[in-house]
Order: sequence, then C-alpha cells, then structure tokens
Amino acid sequence: MIHTVCPNCEGSNTEAFFEIKQAPIFSVVTVKSEQEALRVPRKDIELAFCNHCGFIYNRRFDTDIDYFTSGYEDQQGFSKTFMNFATELCNELIAKYQLKGKTVLEIGCGKGDFINLLTNLSGGCGIGIDPAYEEGRQNNPNLRFHKEFYTQKHSHITAAMIACRHTWEHIHASLDFLRLIRKSLDNSPDTVVFFEVPQVTRILEIQAFWDIYYEHCSYFSAASAAHAFRKAGFEILDLRYVYGEQYLLIEAKPASKNSGKNSGNNSGKIFAIEEDLDEQKQRIDSFKREIKQLLGEWRQRLTALKSANKKVVVWGGGSKSVGFLTNFSDLNVIEHVVDINPNMTGHFIPGIGKQYRAPQFLKDYQPDAVIIMNGVYREEITQSLHAMGVFPEIYAL
Ligand SMILES: [Zn+2]
Repeated sequence: MIHTVCPNCEGSNTEAFFEIKQAPIFSVVTVKSEQEALRVPRKDIELAFCNHCGFIYNRRFDTDIDYFTSGYEDQQGFSKTFMNFATELCNELIAKYQLKGKTVLEIGCGKGDFINLLTNLSGGCGIGIDPAYEEGRQNNPNLRFHKEFYTQKHSHITAAMIACRHTWEHIHASLDFLRLIRKSLDNSPDTVVFFEVPQVTRILEIQAFWDIYYEHCSYFSAASAAHAFRKAGFEILDLRYVYGEQYLLIEAKPASKNSGKNSGNNSGKIFAIEEDLDEQKQRIDSFKREIKQLLGEWRQRLTALKSANKKVVVWGGGSKSVGFLTNFSDLNVIEHVVDINPNMTGHFIPGIGKQYRAPQFLKDYQPDAVIIMNGVYREEITQSLHAMGVFPEIYAL
C-alpha cells in the first residue's frame, strides 16, 4: 500500500524521491542465530516529501507490522559520550521547567534508562510506557512501568512533563499521535511536552544513508515537526538541535484556547532553525544527485579493502549498522560488528547475519580498519581501541 496522503499534515501533494529496495524490516531486535537473522522479512523503503509541510516519510511503510514487542535492544547508556549528553539534558530540563520533585511520564521509554536518570536527578517520580520494557532492567522505587503501547487509556495520567525520545520517528501517523497526547492535556495546560527525534535536514545535507532504515518511517525537519505540533494544538516553547546537530528537540505546551483554536499553524514564535520549504526542496534535489556518488565511493573503498585482504569491522550495532550494511552486503567485506552494549553480544544482526562482538574481541582479531557508525563517538572509540593495543585505520560516518 502506498500512503499518498501526508501523515504529518494531511496534505495530498507528496512526491517520492529516494528508494531502498528490500531493506530488513527490523534493525534493533535481538536475533539468536544467523539463519534467523537472514530470514528477517524485507520490504521496500520509498521516501516521499510533502510539498505542504516538508515532512519526509516512507510512503510504503507497512503499518501492520508489530515492531516493538520482542527483544528490542536500543540502550545507549553504555557510552560515556551519551551519558554526558543525557545527564546535561536532564539537568537542563529540570531547571528550565521546574521538575524538582515532580512526576514525569515517558512515552516509549525503552528499557527505562532516561526516565531513571531524570528522576534520580530531579528527586521526582517517573512513569514509563513501552511494550519493549523488560521487568528488572530498572530497580528504582520511584519508577512505574506499563509494558504496553501508549493509548487513550493512559490519558488520565497527570505529569509535569511528558517526554518522548526516539519514538515519534517510528510512528507512521505522526500527527494523530500528537493529537492523542494533546487530547490528554485538555485539563493540564501547564504540562510540558518534550520530544527528541533524529533530524532529517542533516541526513539530506550529508547524504547519511546509514540513518535511513525501515523502522524509521517518519523523518522530521525542524519545520515539519513544528508544523505538526502547532496543527495538533501545541505552542512551541523551544526548538533546537543537539548531539552534533543529529537530534532535534521540541519543547511545547498546549496552546491556549484563544491562540488559534487548535488549528493555528501560525500561533506562537517561529524559530530560526525552521527550514524554508523551497530551500528544503533544493536539499532534496541535491540529495538525489549526491547520494549515488557517496554510495559509489563507499563501494569503491570497501572493494579496495577487500582486494587488499584487510580485516574490516564495523563499530556500533543497531540501526545505523543495518542501514549502512544493507547497501553493501553483497560485497562480504565486513566479518564482524562490535557494540559496547553487553545485551547485544552474541546476537546476530537482522537481515545481515553477522554476529555482534564485544569490543575486547578486537584485541585478538586486530582489525586493519574500523568503520565507526556515529562520528560523535570517534574519540571515545579511538581511545578504547588504543587502550587495547589496537591501532587500525579509522573511518567515521
Ligand atoms: Zn505534510
């Protein structure tokens, strides 16, 4: 099925611009065997651009698949770089929105790392909702978890803040999801809503093809995210990029009834990072031209490494490695993928079939080249490699 109507603004002027054939539909579920990993279903990705709100989405996304329930591993808390970022972010939110001692609800809390960190720093309570939560991952008496999807039945939960990190991009009906949250806040005008998502303008500018994979069906720019929030009846308090401009943060609260009656796309402040629609269209055009060249360059590089009999590993599992390797799996250059998340060690990469290794594996393996899936971790990973006596050539995405 092709979704021709924009799920972010309900406009019908959308056009496809980029396609990945037969991408594995899962990237961060844990898989116990190579055969099982290679049996993960594949489907096409066809990115479309909405000429009205600037939203980018996979218009062939299959909304019937259950993506979140079994063995979903996406913890980032094992990295020092990430923990520093998350701690600073929590402290900032606590100060900015007076969250000391208050209750925070997190929709899509994963294994609960963020809500745990936030409540430890705020001294408040936390409620996490996520079908992928696993009992026993958090042992904090101030936390409660609902192992299920967020629906209308949770709308009675009151909180000073509703947080939603790295979840919205997995939801096809992006506008309806915001409306569901907004409806729950009819009697809570002061609740702050905080969203964190990858931002697509960077993906377009650097042709970050490794950030395009099936589980992400929605790709937000600052402007398209803001558009949906305003259309759903929110006033945006802050809109900014963080984490090497990879992530977009949206902070909002219910718009007051007299500021545009829930349809006021122009209510509230417009932020400098909200992209001009015509400029975004130009970025799409450059992306279409340049992505072919970049994929060609990587193919050439990997082929050269293979002909020189070099041992090449990818550092950083999860979606980015699936997004990256999907494009070159025919080359058979990469034998191993390393990840510091101990819950992934020994499992196999969906669609790719390689096994996750712990970093210590590289001590004996002595790779000639390491491709780092997220440049933000370049320094941290290089240090770890050197500390193990491993000095490979390093490439970072
Ligand atoms: Zn749209």
